[in-house]
Amino acid sequence: MDAVLRSEHSPFVGMYEPVGYASAPAARRRAAKVAERGQEELKKGIAELYDESSEMWEKLWGDHMHHGFYDKDASVSFSDHRPAQVRMVQEALAFAGITDDPLKKPKRIVDVGCGIGGSSRYLAKKYGAKCEGITLSPVQVKRAHALATAEGLEDQVSFQVADALKQPFPDGQFDLVWSMESGEHMPDKTKFVGELARVAAPGATIIIVTWCHRDLSPSEESLQPNELNLLNKICSAYYLPAWCSASDYVKIAQALSLEDIKTADWSENVAPFWPAVIRSALTWQGFTSLLRSGWKTIRGALAMPLMIEGYNKKLIKFAIIACRKPM
Ligand code: SAH
Repeated sequence: MDAVLRSEHSPFVGMYEPVGYASAPAARRRAAKVAERGQEELKKGIAELYDESSEMWEKLWGDHMHHGFYDKDASVSFSDHRPAQVRMVQEALAFAGITDDPLKKPKRIVDVGCGIGGSSRYLAKKYGAKCEGITLSPVQVKRAHALATAEGLEDQVSFQVADALKQPFPDGQFDLVWSMESGEHMPDKTKFVGELARVAAPGATIIIVTWCHRDLSPSEESLQPNELNLLNKICSAYYLPAWCSASDYVKIAQALSLEDIKTADWSENVAPFWPAVIRSALTWQGFTSLLRSGWKTIRGALAMPLMIEGYNKKLIKFAIIACRKPM
């Protein structure tokens, strides 16, 4: 697994290699410093990207900054996309077996990589739960708070700037741990899942919905050079470190003794999403907002066809991983 997680396709990857691979202590210390600097640079890039682009995406797409979930091969019109994003949240909850039973429904939820709080508000309302969201973007925190206040949810949901790899919560706090399309930004997937498990209460459900690369075949040690090349370009545009596969997540969850581990490939269910995002960016409103947003947002928009290419080549997989912390 480590060999896979180290596959060198991200411009950030060298900076995130596990330190233990360097041989001599001095080399290890040097590698640790480089890794730390790299992680700070990545976090800064992610924060700036979302600070810059969130207003525009909210204008075009609303408060959910993630793929929509569609019936396979359904014909889709423009008004279907926002409901499809809400459906993604519902499908993830259903897949993980989260219940509406008043005695068993979640009461304390963490939304890791919360964006402007679309999931947080939905989950808080659905379950009458308290929800705490974390993001790297101060602009998102401010906007998430304003949207929650406008809905009268300010006592139920809260947001702060914090790192998912070092969450500002004590152990065992939450009975639902939610990460909707933030895992792909995490430079250390083992640490990421470890933190999700740490803040989970005994018996809590952990849901990760994230971009993965395809599983490797038994004879492969890494992806093919042309595949690495494509992911590399996507990593640069969206501030992503090296990707991993859904099986890698399963192995990490197993190593952490998490239970009831389930995963599914929803790539076909999200197929209409990126073409629709491209169409929305090409409207007059989309185009002018893009130009106003800044270079990081424009670069992200230019990389959108690469996501479609990745899905078409069956290199990119849209995955859900759900599991439970033992009682
Ligand atoms: N889950 C939200 C937003 C997805 S966009 C939604 O579905 O609407 C990705 C989010 O992950 C952004 O809010 C970004 O700030 C956050 N993120 C990326 N890396 C992070 C990290 N290390 N710690 C906390 N949040 C992170």
